[in-house]
Amino acid sequence: MDLCDRNDIQALLARHGFRFAKSLGQNFLIRGDVAEDIAAAGCVSGCGVLEVGPGIGALTVQLARRAEKVVSVELDKRLPPVLAETLAGYDNFSLIEGDVMKLDLAAVAAERFAGLRPVLCANLPYNITTPFLTACVHAGCFEQLTVLIQKEVAQRICARPGTGDYGAFTLLMQYYTQPELLFTVPNTCFMPPPKVTSAVVRCVTRREPPVQVKSEETFWRTVRAGFALRRKTLVNSLQTGWQLPKERLTEIVIACGLSPTVRGEALGLEEYARLADALAEEA
Ligand code: SAM
Repeated sequence: MDLCDRNDIQALLARHGFRFAKSLGQNFLIRGDVAEDIAAAGCVSGCGVLEVGPGIGALTVQLARRAEKVVSVELDKRLPPVLAETLAGYDNFSLIEGDVMKLDLAAVAAERFAGLRPVLCANLPYNITTPFLTACVHAGCFEQLTVLIQKEVAQRICARPGTGDYGAFTLLMQYYTQPELLFTVPNTCFMPPPKVTSAVVRCVTRREPPVQVKSEETFWRTVRAGFALRRKTLVNSLQTGWQLPKERLTEIVIACGLSPTVRGEALGLEEYARLADALAEEA
């Protein structure tokens, strides 16, 4: 059976009485070469892969061919019987049934991937992309995250300061990882086709943060406040997170070497770090 052949997929799904659920972001890959390219980009030597949403296993099979071990998490209760059939030959594959958002990722990685290099690789359901990637970087247990996601989100992750795509999520991902947009994937590569173009992004976890800050809590509070009012100046936007007079915030911004009329989206990690350290003194 070819897991990327339309006729084979339709026959398999009909046999299992399966219908696609939009609410679960079910857009299955129907291009074997794309699944191979994602698996090749996502695996490192001696890795244990956590995959989210194996679907019928098109990407899972490619991962199982390259990794020491693959653990996939699937929420849809109708899919485990399908996977039992499609992954039958792969002893290094196991399934966790449930919602990946409710898992303790660090505990799963420690338990299932002892002695291996844990990585995350998935064609993510679009509705959990941002909260799930946020959970991954906070868990800090994966060497890299390689994900097929909406192109717009991939661009936000990789954005440079001063661009429309750049935001607090960009800084979060770039603080914890070094992201790279590898390639785009047209909607014709999926069944059913999503409305948008997708892209594969690989985020390699940093060993050390790119900037040193006095308090990470203050740093993220500053970043969130800096982007809260995108059309306003940084000083005005900062007031959403800091109960300081505008005049004092203006003094601090200037003391950090920034223009009093600069916008939050113009600042890079280093500038936010400098600003957060100055604001920490006020707390
Ligand atoms: N990996 C398959 C492929 O590439 O063809 C399917 C990818 S499809 C975009 C997303 C998959 O994630 C579906 O199988 C869906 O049922 C599953 N899913 C959706 N939400 C989930 C969640 N919260 N936890 C685990 N799996 C989830």
